[in-house]
Amino acid sequence: MRWRLPEERPAEPPTGFKIAHPMLSQDGSRAGFTGVSLGGALPYGVLDEAHCVYGLRHRAPHRRCDCGFHCVHDRTAAEAMLCTAEHRTAVLLEVAVLGAYIRFELGFRYARQRVRTATVGPCSCGSVAVALADAGWGRPGWRALAASCAGCVRGRPSVSLATFARLGGEGLRVRAGGGAAPSGGDLPEGLGVSELTAEAALLQARLDWFQTQLARLGQPGADQG
Ligand SMILES: [Zn+2]
Ligand SMILES: [Zn+2]
Repeated sequence: MRWRLPEERPAEPPTGFKIAHPMLSQDGSRAGFTGVSLGGALPYGVLDEAHCVYGLRHRAPHRRCDCGFHCVHDRTAAEAMLCTAEHRTAVLLEVAVLGAYIRFELGFRYARQRVRTATVGPCSCGSVAVALADAGWGRPGWRALAASCAGCVRGRPSVSLATFARLGGEGLRVRAGGGAAPSGGDLPEGLGVSELTAEAALLQARLDWFQTQLARLGQPGADQG
């Protein structure tokens, strides 16, 4: 007799939590995420299907492989992973577990995923994030992004949290969580006051930065940094 796992048929897709790095496509037209460990080489979209990370020709998640999307049941367990030095710039994702899944003690391994909400931590300076800016690394065709406040963006390629959500599509919500400074909180759908304030702060900071650069170039004998 073959031992089988009990089958579940939930009415609603289960919810899970995980951490990932936000990614922007090379041409800046698409937003996605990439995992922090297994599967980190394959960026995924907001609504996406898992592929076997070992390139094996089976559907993920396969019972005798460890491929597929992974998440944990508990938000606090996912947040705990953000404490390690190498995961500090990752963001917290709340996901809907779609398609076939394998349940284990701490979470799920599964076939399809919709990222519902991404919570972006504070800028490395401690201020609340208004943008996701070039983190200085990436994957072929994808730039990794990290939280930035308006003051730290400077000339780096960056997108506001609202733009990242729009590029991600599929109803993705992106919120700033934590950080020293008022504002933050949920970004409303459409253009709300907090969203416009964040956009304005980002634009002003970039404008200031460009004006400083222009002024420097205008000075005779200025250093062309
Ligand atoms: Zn596999
Ligand atoms: Zn900052």
